[in-house]
Amino acid sequence: MSDNIYVTKSSMPPFEQYVEEIRELWESGIITNNGVKLKKFEKELEQYLKVENVSLFVNGHMALESIIEAFDLKGEVITTPFTFASTTHAICRKGLTPVFCDINEDDYTIDVEKIESLITEKTSAIIPVHVYGNICNIEAIEKIAKKYGLKVIYDAAHCFGIVKNDVGVGCFGDASMFSFHATKVFNTIEGGAVSFNDDTLKDKLHLIKNFGISGEDNVDYIGTNGKMNEFQAAMGICNLKYIDENINKRKVIFERYIENLKNEKGIKLPLKQYLNKDVKSNYAYFPIVLDSYKKTREQLILQLKQENIYPRKYFYPITIKYFCYENMFSDNTPIAEKISNNVITLPIFDKLTIEQVDKICKIIKNN
Ligand SMILES: *Cc1c(COP(=O)(O)O)cnc(C)c1O
Repeated sequence: MSDNIYVTKSSMPPFEQYVEEIRELWESGIITNNGVKLKKFEKELEQYLKVENVSLFVNGHMALESIIEAFDLKGEVITTPFTFASTTHAICRKGLTPVFCDINEDDYTIDVEKIESLITEKTSAIIPVHVYGNICNIEAIEKIAKKYGLKVIYDAAHCFGIVKNDVGVGCFGDASMFSFHATKVFNTIEGGAVSFNDDTLKDKLHLIKNFGISGEDNVDYIGTNGKMNEFQAAMGICNLKYIDENINKRKVIFERYIENLKNEKGIKLPLKQYLNKDVKSNYAYFPIVLDSYKKTREQLILQLKQENIYPRKYFYPITIKYFCYENMFSDNTPIAEKISNNVITLPIFDKLTIEQVDKICKIIKNN
């Protein structure tokens, strides 16, 4: 149904450009395993993201599991439940125990005031999420991490291209994970990366994602298969040419939403990073949080769906409420729960028109 408006729509480069980019692969016959496209894309990304090192992965989740493994973390990890399944799952799948910290009401990132009381002698790391591209309070997190000797890995899946005071968001903490999934601001169909400052991590991550193979006849480590292939890398090379143009289009849409909704009582708009002049945003999401609004969330979603508009409840439920985690962890995150129960992420993507934004806002505001 081509008339349906979903929360996002994948950015695609011009078809001919992609075909041109992959032509070489038919000549060489090398379509994965650290090929020419991957190497080129890795370099281009390091530049674009303004980070020291990038290691590419088949998807963001594998990138996150791999960096957790690379740091050989043990015991407990402080994180938040207001995120995509991947963050909590990665921690648990690596044999660690998530300890859930609440979020703050301003930008829905980890509440730094509440971190220290959750630290025990078993804590080895903090894995915060830059939710919707809102950068966490990195200064406060760094201070706590230094004081207690903890690693910091950011889930930066929402943060492609975000820069604070000319520093790429991927430079913060010990490492950051990016996702290039089809639904994100920037995609390689599926794909992901870890960024990091410590050069020695490069070889470790390579071993992890390539079965631990260290030479033709040597396997030194019990690794997995997390490699990005050449077709993904080629998609990345092509999409990267359009990313700035794409983000600019999103900015126009984002500002139109604000213009249309700013006087609506009971709707909280995503203003914090938008008003922060130090941050170059990527306008990845447009979340609104209802606070005693004249309609309930379900009413509003129903009205939009009747017009073939499909917003999403990112993130609902919070991960701690998943069936697979039932009764496993203590739940002391009331703000995360409240935001999760009242949030709607509205459609935003490069091809969304101003007329469509106006239509969506009209439906929201109508009685
Ligand atoms: C998309 C996403 C991931 C996972 O990335 P994939 O590339 O889909 O594996 C992790 N964390 C957050 C917050 C995400 O939005």
